[in-house]
Amino acid sequence: MRLAFLALVAAAAPMRAQQWPVHSMDRPRPAVVDPGPERPPVAPPSDAIVLFDGKSLAQWQSEDSTAAKWVVRDGYFEVAPHTGAIVTKRGFGDVQLHVEWATPVPATGEGQDRGNSGVFMMTHYEIQVLDSYHSDTYADGQAAAVYGQTPPLVNASRPPGQWQTYDIIFHRPRFTADGAVRDSARVTVLHNGVLVQDNTIITGWTVHGQRAHYAPHADRLPLLLQDHGHPVRYRDIWIRELREHQ
Ligand code: MG
Repeated sequence: MRLAFLALVAAAAPMRAQQWPVHSMDRPRPAVVDPGPERPPVAPPSDAIVLFDGKSLAQWQSEDSTAAKWVVRDGYFEVAPHTGAIVTKRGFGDVQLHVEWATPVPATGEGQDRGNSGVFMMTHYEIQVLDSYHSDTYADGQAAAVYGQTPPLVNASRPPGQWQTYDIIFHRPRFTADGAVRDSARVTVLHNGVLVQDNTIITGWTVHGQRAHYAPHADRLPLLLQDHGHPVRYRDIWIRELREHQ
């Protein structure tokens, strides 16, 4: 009886993935999946907040609250390298986010120095944007990785210059009154329609080269797009605020 109980407990214990060192080059790279050709954007759902309509950065600003300095052109906007990140003027918590991006052509650089940008949920949690098409880097830093934490399930990258989509479902972390983590943030990501993060636990704020940890923050914070010095393009960005079941 006692043994049977123990076996049940063991079976119910959560499966733990191997803990790889941050940015380990030994960590296996996800299998490559061809997501099919790029597609034109489709109209957002009626309750979406449109964050970029192809014409204006009115929903965005620099982190110091001055006007966003990135370049709007022909229905997309482009990172103006070394002008800094841009953030939404309003804050968000639990969301569904759609964003389309394209890395530069001709592609230059290697690894992290090749079409690098990033979609930071709540300013602090990066879903990596990178040219990962026939281009290698550490698994937890390739396109659609939770940067420095969790590689994508597969590599569904399109070639540089082609439009790629992220559909992201993000649940914010919950903190107790004394600042402890009650619930970690979680994220689901479809890259070009392919599931690459499946309700992945986010282990803390995005940092480079070290283990992440949480610091408490507000229930709503801006969405941030990273300036990593590369002219990555974005278009068709919309977001839906998620409400709990009534
Ligand atoms: Mg990045």
